[in-house]
Amino acid sequence: MSDPASPAMLRGACHCGAVRLTLPYTPETATSCNCSLCRRTGGIWAFYALGSVAIEGHPEHTESYIWGDRTLRNLRCRTCGVATHWEPLEGEHGARHGVNLRNFDPRLLESVVVRRFDGAQSWQFLD
Ligand SMILES: [Zn+2]
Repeated sequence: MSDPASPAMLRGACHCGAVRLTLPYTPETATSCNCSLCRRTGGIWAFYALGSVAIEGHPEHTESYIWGDRTLRNLRCRTCGVATHWEPLEGEHGARHGVNLRNFDPRLLESVVVRRFDGAQSWQFLD
């Protein structure tokens, strides 16, 4: 599949700009999850190998939130409060982490298939 996104569309930031993220490539799919946290933040998540997304302003401008089975660190900007990404607590290189596509040009999200994930109960995709 050809990459429909321009390089500028792969660069995103939180609302105030303190946390900036650059994706290595356009994701083919993203995930909308209904778990008790995601249904509140409204994040739409694309997954990448940890270390492959360039993130500026983290951790100096981020705050973290850890809940549930305590495997993930959910990160938000400490100035504007926008959810930017999550990463595994055991962050070995190559592990997966999630980036909130809401922080990017809306055309990027429009180009991606968003899959609904039942993180609240079955841990299965609903499509
Ligand atoms: Zn911010």
